[in-house]
Amino acid sequence: MLDLKAVNGKAVIPGTGIVETGIGCKDGKIVVLAKDADLPEAASVYDAGGKYVIPGVIDPHCHLGIFTGDFAYETEHETRAALAGGVTTVGLFMGGTEPYLPQLPGLVDTLNAKASADTFLHLAMFTSQQMDEMERCVKDHGVAEFKFYMTGIPGVFPNVTDAFILQGLRRMRGISDKLTACIHCEDQSMVDAALAELVAGYGDSAGGDLCEWAKIGPAEAEELAVIRACYLAHVSGTKIYIVHMSSEEGVIAAADHRPDNLFVETTSPYLSLTKDDPAGLRAKMLPPIKDECDREALWEGVMEDIIDSFGTDNTPLSLAVKGVEKGMMGAMPGYPVIATHLPVLLHEGVNSRGVPLETIVEKACANPAKIFNLYPQKGTIAVGSDADLVVVDLDKERVVHAAELYSFADYSIWEGRTLKGWPVATIKGGVVAVENHEIRVEPGIGRYLARSI
Ligand SMILES: [Zn+2]
Repeated sequence: MLDLKAVNGKAVIPGTGIVETGIGCKDGKIVVLAKDADLPEAASVYDAGGKYVIPGVIDPHCHLGIFTGDFAYETEHETRAALAGGVTTVGLFMGGTEPYLPQLPGLVDTLNAKASADTFLHLAMFTSQQMDEMERCVKDHGVAEFKFYMTGIPGVFPNVTDAFILQGLRRMRGISDKLTACIHCEDQSMVDAALAELVAGYGDSAGGDLCEWAKIGPAEAEELAVIRACYLAHVSGTKIYIVHMSSEEGVIAAADHRPDNLFVETTSPYLSLTKDDPAGLRAKMLPPIKDECDREALWEGVMEDIIDSFGTDNTPLSLAVKGVEKGMMGAMPGYPVIATHLPVLLHEGVNSRGVPLETIVEKACANPAKIFNLYPQKGTIAVGSDADLVVVDLDKERVVHAAELYSFADYSIWEGRTLKGWPVATIKGGVVAVENHEIRVEPGIGRYLARSI
């Protein structure tokens, strides 16, 4: 007897294609794929109504606890926003200059107690003491990624040098070739020069807009840093994952220079907004949202397999904390976007640009799972995989209202806009966790995913 069977759906199976198959789930896993009529009896039946069924989406790039300082609170709220949006697994970047080993058991306990999506951790490296902890973070706590900031986040994180990064890459390679270095690729000196010009022009005035803010991230700063990252991947042999690529120049640099052990992520906001967007400073981010040519080049990068993976860079905060009234220099960077991640990819990719749904699924589900050592437990629909499934209605139109997105943030950069293509149900661990945007599960059903390296 199955716990659940999903019938009358078209399964999008990475590497295979679109298959009309029933999916049988038991004890949180997919245990059988067969014609609906051939599936065993189940305690409950979900009728997908002829719609597509995709693997649970993995957002490998999320930040929690930065602005409220309350990691537990943000975990509880934002993983519910994720689940409602079809994101069943969330990769969290943790930062700071304190040692990680004393923090990890508490973080994992909080994630297991509060999260509604499954979670995994990436740790940013700022000190040699943290680098000394790497091996135990991997072996004792299932961490498999370390992050390096070529450019820091002013007031939040410092940058690190290429020498520090290379040292980290070699130490990672010495632990396991399965580890991944995530790198924020912008050249610090170019960003500093751009910032100095903005400060000279605006000082602490409340002026400026999203268009002006784009100058903080010159495309050549990303281009140069991408070339450096490609070199570092080549010289170290360590797997490198470039986070949040934002520019046409970055895409071209990756296309021209990437070795096989380098992967590229962009985010759903960069694939959807430009610096002229009416969201204005609500969409202030680092790296900044750029031009239409950049957005379109990123989509070309998706189609040509230069972009491997989609993340969100979700950094939730309230409008009061965002502070758009303080102008371009005073407003905080970051935005709550995890709830709209999948709808934006479906709207902008499948419905607006004719990107095949299989391509979206490959980069939103399968590739993040493969890169971060979660495949085939996550990222596909196969016997033995976790029963995380999302039923997608490509024709469904819905107006975005932040109040309906389950985030603690009180705004969306998509507020009031209609997106076409939405998840209509999220099955998490073989349980219908969300149906028609109503969450039916309690916090704590998410599990921390310790990777075994
Ligand atoms: Zn980030």
